[in-house]
Amino acid sequence: MQLSFTYEANPGRTIFAPGSLASLGDELTRLGFNRALIICTPPQRDLAERINAMLGDRSAGIFDGALMHVPFETVVACRDVALKSLADCTVAIGGGSTTGLAKALALEDGLPIVAVPTTYAGSEMTPIWGMTKDRRKVTGRDRAVLPKTVIYDPELLVSLPASITGPSGLNAIAHAVEALYAPEANPITSLMAEEAIRAIGQGLPKSIETPDDISARSSTLYGAWLAGATLGMVGMGLHHKICHTLGGTFDLPHADVHAIVLPYVAEFNASAAPGAMARVAMALGGLAASDAGRCLYDLRRKTCPKQSLASLGMAQSDIRHAAELASAGSYPNPKIASADDVERIIIEAFHGLQP
Ligand code: NAD
Repeated sequence: MQLSFTYEANPGRTIFAPGSLASLGDELTRLGFNRALIICTPPQRDLAERINAMLGDRSAGIFDGALMHVPFETVVACRDVALKSLADCTVAIGGGSTTGLAKALALEDGLPIVAVPTTYAGSEMTPIWGMTKDRRKVTGRDRAVLPKTVIYDPELLVSLPASITGPSGLNAIAHAVEALYAPEANPITSLMAEEAIRAIGQGLPKSIETPDDISARSSTLYGAWLAGATLGMVGMGLHHKICHTLGGTFDLPHADVHAIVLPYVAEFNASAAPGAMARVAMALGGLAASDAGRCLYDLRRKTCPKQSLASLGMAQSDIRHAAELASAGSYPNPKIASADDVERIIIEAFHGLQP
């Protein structure tokens, strides 16, 4: 076997177990933190209150203003609370929006993070940060934003509604699919990516049917952890470029867009990345690279309420503009995609067609 690769792991500690939220206090002690500011979105305030009571005088309070895309004003407001409450770390309890806010404070103020993810987005495993200022989202990579510890407690996912569970799981799978054909892919990231797709493929439908099935939630969260870790180690391709364009420029919901676009990009890339796409297909019960798009489509049909960009409110008249934006600039992808190629992908996604 001829092999040639570079593997660079990100630092960090992961604790994974049903009920592991209870270990948060011990974890703060282990890390030497004394006052944790608990960060969450407004709807997750109750969970933050639970943690606040659990931490007692080691809590510096709650900031419940985390919002999608990390608006700069929110970072300023959260920093103010952190300074006034003498916080020496943050506990980010929630999805990518909450983790994103904690990352902004880690980047700008050096406040270390303990993350407790409650969606499958995977941000907690990546050094990628993002902030929105004057309607422009700026992103970057910095290891300073990696949480010191991530506590994965599948019991916290039980409350995630089906309307978020399905798209969030597909969002995680999208990281793994693109990790398999990334230029930096190596044997470890590919093992992780394939296992991620298999674990989510098995756990996601059951998590929708029976939301409190801890075994199904565990399988999906385990896959999301692996997928997030691959996202943190390799670059993403055409799929992420299209989704960031659609989400950023047309204000469409992040996870739903990923779920809807993914089968068509997989189909487009199948002939140029047959090995990667065969692994995707086999992880989902298919037989060959050419099955990848259909397997992802079938999983989306089973688990996601929204099946088309049209149903998310995208205007048909924006398709060409979106295709031109998404095909501009350079990004790694197994196959070069022209504006016409991207337009075809977006048209399929707009109608939610079978690939
Ligand atoms: P989110 O964090 O915005 O959460 C979506 C909604 O679900 C929120 O209203 C939240 O309150 C609610 N929620 C979360 N967990 C819940 C639970 N267990 N029970 C009930 N409700 C719950 O959505 P997301 O998809 O997790 O994150 C999306 C954001 O994360 C995007 O801005 C995206 O760009 C970013 N992201 C960043 C990275 C990265 O590496 N930096 C990776 C993935 C996503």
